[in-house]
Amino acid sequence: MNNIYNLSLEELAVWLQESGEKSFHAKQIFHWLYQKRISSWEEMSNLSKTLREKLKNNFTLKSLTLVKQVDSVDNDTTKFLWELSDGQLVESVLIRAPERRTVCVSSQVGCPARCAFCASGKQGLKRNLDVAEIIQQVLEIDGTLAQIGERVCHVVFMGMGEPFENYDAVTAAIRRLIHPEGLNISQRKITVSTVGVVDKIVQFAEEGLKTNLVLSLHAPTQDIRKKIIPYARKYAIATILDAMLYFAQKSGRDITYEYTLLEGINDLPEHAVQLAKLVKGHPCTVNLIPYNKVEGLRLSRPSRESIEEFRQILVDAKIPTTWRYTKGKDIAAACGQLALQTKTLPMIAE
Ligand code: SF4
Repeated sequence: MNNIYNLSLEELAVWLQESGEKSFHAKQIFHWLYQKRISSWEEMSNLSKTLREKLKNNFTLKSLTLVKQVDSVDNDTTKFLWELSDGQLVESVLIRAPERRTVCVSSQVGCPARCAFCASGKQGLKRNLDVAEIIQQVLEIDGTLAQIGERVCHVVFMGMGEPFENYDAVTAAIRRLIHPEGLNISQRKITVSTVGVVDKIVQFAEEGLKTNLVLSLHAPTQDIRKKIIPYARKYAIATILDAMLYFAQKSGRDITYEYTLLEGINDLPEHAVQLAKLVKGHPCTVNLIPYNKVEGLRLSRPSRESIEEFRQILVDAKIPTTWRYTKGKDIAAACGQLALQTKTLPMIAE
C-alpha cells in the first residue's frame, strides 16, 4: 500500500475525485498530515467517517519507526535511527544552533559513491528512499521540537546517500517541504549536497528552485578525486564545475565546495594552489573540513599548521574560504560523514 505522504496536494485532489469525493478535502488532509502531524486516521475529525475509512483502506500513514535517539554530550546534536517498513535502517540528525534548528536527512539506504572517509559509503547502495520516508524524517523531528515550542527551519540533504541518484524523490520531497500547505520551509534554508551527478545538477538548475547546492569536491585533480570518491570516475571535475556554475547562474544562488582535508592525500600546498586555480571566479565558498580520525579507516587528519597553510593559500588567492574545526559533531561537513562525525553517538556505524 502506498504511503499518503508520497502524494502531492494535486495528486491527492485527483485521487479524491476518482474516489467519488470532493477535491477540496485534499487541503484539509494536508493540514492534518503536515501541520497537525497526526498519528492515526481517526484524528482527522473534520472528515467524514466514510472518507477516513477510504483513506485507511488505500494508504499507510507511517513510514518510519524510531529505533534509537541519542543526544550528544553538549546537547547540540541529536541523532535519530529509524527503521523503515522493510526493516532497513536510516539516520537523521538534528543540529541545534542559536536561533536555528537544522535537520540533516538521508535520501538513500547506503550510498553508491563509496567515499573513502564515509561510513555510509562502505555498505554501498541498498535502495532509494521514497518521498514519504524522506519528509517523515523532518516531520517526526519537527513534531518532537513542537513539544517545546520549536520548529525545524533548515533542512540539509547531507545524510546517507547521494541525493541526485534519487532525484525524483528528493525534488518531490523538497517541493513538499517548501509548500505553503506542506511544511512551509523557506527554499533558501534547504541545502542539497552532491558528489557531482552532472546531468542532475543541470536538471536541478532548471527546476526553478532557490535552494542551496553543495558539491563534495574533496580534490583539486581528477586523479586524486578518483581515489577519494570512486564514483567520481563517472564525471570529469571540469564538467562537474561547469554544471555547478550553470546552477549558480540559473538559480542566482552562491555555491559551496566542500573539501575534506586528508593528510598526505589532498592537503599539500600544491593541492591548495591547484584548488585555487580550479575554482577561481566561481561564486563560491570553499568549506575546508579537517578529517576526523575514525577507527577502522586508514586516513588521518592533517596537522593544524598544514590546514592553516592550505587555508592561507586559498585566502591569498582571494577564494572565500571557511574552516570548520570539527569535533565529532559538526554537521556542516561532507554528506554521509555525519555517521562518522557523530561518533560519540554510535548507531549504524557501530
Ligand atoms: S560522503 Fe556522501 S556521497 Fe560519499 S559515500 Fe558518504 S553518503 Fe555517499
